[in-house]
Amino acid sequence: MKLSQSFTKTMKTAPADEASVSAKYLLRAGYIYKEMAGVYDYLPLGMRTLNKIIQIIREEMNAIGGEELSLTALQTKEVWDATDRWSDDVMDIWFKTKLNAGGELGLAPTHEEPLTRVMKSYISSYKDLPVYAYQFQTKFRNELRAKSGIMRTREFVMKDLYSFSKDRAEHDKFYEECAQAYIKIFNRLGIGNDTYRTFASGGAFSKYSDEFQTLCEVGEDIIYLDREKGIAVNEEVYNDEVLADLNLDKKKLEKCKAAEVGNIFTLGYRFSDALDLCFNDEDGKRQKVFMGSYGIGPSRVMGVIAEKLSDDKGLVWPEEIAPFKYYLVGIGEEAEKKAAELYEKAPEDIIFDDRESARTGEKFADADLMGIPYRVVISDKTLAENKVEIKDRKTGETKLLTLDEFTSKLA
Ligand code: ATP
Ligand code: MG
Repeated sequence: MKLSQSFTKTMKTAPADEASVSAKYLLRAGYIYKEMAGVYDYLPLGMRTLNKIIQIIREEMNAIGGEELSLTALQTKEVWDATDRWSDDVMDIWFKTKLNAGGELGLAPTHEEPLTRVMKSYISSYKDLPVYAYQFQTKFRNELRAKSGIMRTREFVMKDLYSFSKDRAEHDKFYEECAQAYIKIFNRLGIGNDTYRTFASGGAFSKYSDEFQTLCEVGEDIIYLDREKGIAVNEEVYNDEVLADLNLDKKKLEKCKAAEVGNIFTLGYRFSDALDLCFNDEDGKRQKVFMGSYGIGPSRVMGVIAEKLSDDKGLVWPEEIAPFKYYLVGIGEEAEKKAAELYEKAPEDIIFDDRESARTGEKFADADLMGIPYRVVISDKTLAENKVEIKDRKTGETKLLTLDEFTSKLA
């Protein structure tokens, strides 16, 4: 990316109504644009980071047998009537609209019902099971309170996987595999150390559900954390009985604020029953499919990471999800020419700040604000020694590399 050719610009200030650090920095650095409360556009830098988060999640879902698809957001009443979830009294976050051709449409806040119906066309025998289908898809939720920038919005991307199993045992096995995949994902995303598997309320088919909660001051959940054991209990189920059940000692628990970045839930027969999703077992007997749902909010994850890993100068992305790895600046005429040459070797990895209008100090400030992992500077002075200066955004350490050493990193 050449900054002289990019339409985005950094800003000195953020909108006054943004309270969270992450929202302020993401807006100022040109990652997102605010349309209205709880509704944001993703600009080129923001898209790149969001897509990198999505790609990590995709790889881990594929590794446990997930098949990616994409369902429509446009929903008709009848499929949701089958589970009694069309009514605004039951689900108060629907966005609905009239269809010109008659009738009503809803914008999907989640996808259990439509996917269960899709599966009726494909699942009829035990040989068709299990099925693990997932998507990265836009959800619409008329949330009462939008909060903390992209952490709680009214339109957001969700990774939602749904499992269709022949029985509870098959379900339980996958449930645990998915929990392990989530741990890998949050490790790869750089928030593994602060993300805890958390027991939360379970519904009709399971005592608990598993939430993945990341410690975060602007998070909306309260969890009770046993650091030694590495597990937590959500406030919503925190009581003496549950603690005894989980073998947790009240005195060892820490009360923390956290943000739910993902969750997994045993749905059981709730949806297969209502929509009549059945299969014939080995004995030719008709059985209901046993289901589960597995969500992660990539945009909330992005907000949480921005919130937690930033400092007083701006964002600090882990390398795996930074929009670009290097922020390249040339100081002086010869150095700028050399910088342009280096840029051409790896335009996918480098933001080249070739703006004529910006002073070096401004370029450095923008590199920090954008949170690019390595700032690379070539000046006429370093060039005389055939070197570049590399500064680590996270640690602030600088070192000199020869041009060859740096070029081999690019290749
Ligand atoms: P919450 O309790 O925070 O509202 P939820 O229980 O409604 O979340 P799910 O419906 O299971 O969550 O959604 C799965 C994941 O999608 C969540 O773990 C979270 O990461 C993300 N998510 C949920 N609501 C939002 C939102 N309004 N904006 C951004 N991400 C969201
Ligand atoms: Mg919600």
